[in-house]
Amino acid sequence: MRIILLGAPGSGKGTQAKMLVEKYHVPQISTGDLLRAAVAANTPLGQQAKAVMDSGQLVSDELVLGIIRERLNEDDAKNGFILDGFPRNQAQAEALDALLNELTWPIDAAIAIHVDNDDLVQRITGRRSCKDCGQVYNIFTTPPKVENVCDKCGGELVHRADDIEETIRKRLGVYVEQTSPLLAYYQQQAKLHEIEGTGEINDIFAKICAVIDTK
Ligand code: AMP
Repeated sequence: MRIILLGAPGSGKGTQAKMLVEKYHVPQISTGDLLRAAVAANTPLGQQAKAVMDSGQLVSDELVLGIIRERLNEDDAKNGFILDGFPRNQAQAEALDALLNELTWPIDAAIAIHVDNDDLVQRITGRRSCKDCGQVYNIFTTPPKVENVCDKCGGELVHRADDIEETIRKRLGVYVEQTSPLLAYYQQQAKLHEIEGTGEINDIFAKICAVIDTK
């Protein structure tokens, strides 16, 4: 199964992707996570990406496509994958199609998760994630049992540098301008499925699984 999760920052893509990994045993490929790992490791790529990420803009297509090509070459991607946060604009979507056509690995579905803007801002400002395993919490709605400690692995919970209100508004603007046109792109390919992303996490998960299970 090869799935794209589309949705604004804070729509729950990462949370749902992690649940899908457990159920379907295919990797989550998050360009945001890969970029943050490069920033944390202070690699040349990370140094290039950091300021752009902190400002809420998109890093260059060239850089992101390089990361994706490399990641899709790894063995675990052969059985399928869940793309989370990629593609983010038309050029990336077209480059992905070209790459996957070459591999004869077409995308099965693009699943768009819809959440209102005000909810998104509250979700993102409350978001904390484990710096070791990536598990995501929200201090308002889904807090960890012990403050700042991951329930799953005991790792420290951190607040992302770009999860502050001013940057969030910018990221939401970038989503509307650059990423949301991809809904029409996948609609034209008859691959788009739209899901309401508010309510219980498990109910949203069930709706996503229902789409995947028809594929
Ligand atoms: P995310 O964790 O998906 O919200 O991504 C965090 C930040 O990483 C974004 O605001 C961008 O600066 C950068 N980023 C992640 N994925 C992409 C992408 N596909 N294209 C360009 N920039 C990206």
